[in-house]
Amino acid sequence: MIDYLVNELGFYGNYGGAYIPEILHRCVNDLQKEYLNILESDSFKKDFYQLLHDYAGRPSPLYLSRYLSKKHNCKIYLKREDLNHTGAHKINNTVGQILIAQRMGKTRIIAETGAGQHGVATATVCALMQLECIVYMGKTDVERQAVNVQKMEMLGATVIPVTSGNMTLKDATNEAIRDWCSHPADTHYIIGSVVGPHPYPDLVARLQSVISEEIKIQLVEKELRDAPDYLVACVGGGSNAAGTIYHYLDNDAVKIVLAEAGGRGIDSGESAATIQLGKMGIIHGCKTLLMQTEDGQIVEPYSISAGLDYPGIGPIHANLVDTNRATVFAVDDDEALQAAFELTRNEGIIPALESAHALAALNKMEFNRSDIVVVTLSGRGDKDLTTYFQNNNF
Ligand SMILES: *Cc1c(COP(=O)(O)O)cnc(C)c1O
Repeated sequence: MIDYLVNELGFYGNYGGAYIPEILHRCVNDLQKEYLNILESDSFKKDFYQLLHDYAGRPSPLYLSRYLSKKHNCKIYLKREDLNHTGAHKINNTVGQILIAQRMGKTRIIAETGAGQHGVATATVCALMQLECIVYMGKTDVERQAVNVQKMEMLGATVIPVTSGNMTLKDATNEAIRDWCSHPADTHYIIGSVVGPHPYPDLVARLQSVISEEIKIQLVEKELRDAPDYLVACVGGGSNAAGTIYHYLDNDAVKIVLAEAGGRGIDSGESAATIQLGKMGIIHGCKTLLMQTEDGQIVEPYSISAGLDYPGIGPIHANLVDTNRATVFAVDDDEALQAAFELTRNEGIIPALESAHALAALNKMEFNRSDIVVVTLSGRGDKDLTTYFQNNNF
């Protein structure tokens, strides 16, 4: 049987690893040595689940969408990560990583952010634990995501605008790595998705796996079976998707569908469809599929949704696609917008634009009457209202 999880060397098939500068060997090695002991300790588990429950508001509901079920003539459930504290699945990861940082004696937290969602989730847990927080953010993103910048500052974080490159997420990540190199002893770097050097992809996937842990229990309550026929999630780096599928990877009866951002169309030159457009390369310490030119320069990704425009993809997903365990659809901006308006009008739920990509993927699939489908609604649409109002067709 194929192993879809990470091996001892930090690889998922051909993807993963830890390609890092020498100066980071010590802190990455420390994390590699410690993370499983910490995650499996009773004290961590107690604190993690308690915070997820009392602070983040878990378990998130599994909601049967009557509208989508009728439209697709099967049963479609929404896993409501949009109802979490700070509005998305990202809080699951930051709550876990702040507890790890504390146990490793780190006093200073750094993070990268694109749209600002991971920055806000990190600043939130730093306020909770009274730890210093520095967030790197491309200057372009600082300007287009002013509310999130103000939120982070209100929470006590220092936001540093990054002016290298295109001044977006990739550049912010480079800068965060540079900071980590200069402060390896006291600093923990909270990466926001299943990307970066080993052990981050595995660490973040395990922290997000609470999503599939809950789906199993909730499906038994509602359907008297613990597995759906399909799991559907959007992928930027791939953390909400990894959490959604984690406990089902070895169950081949559960089909995995990933929705990546097609942007203005995958052949338009303005896309973030990394799985379909990418080739193997190394980004931020990880060997994975990467959008790059012939001579290996990273291609700047584009999507209407700021959370999906990463030029790489988590190594776990690159391997799932290689091994045909997962199916991928590229969903264009317009298709995502339409799916967002449709859910809003018919269910009274305004989804995040990222999550709308997962919803739109349903339109590219065919179902049997008896199928049970779980779509992860990774976040709520409050942060996307300006985009929605500019593109409204109501
Ligand atoms: C950040 C974000 C994503 C993309 O990140 P993944 O690591 O791919 O999950 C998706 N949805 C929402 C709501 C986000 O905030």
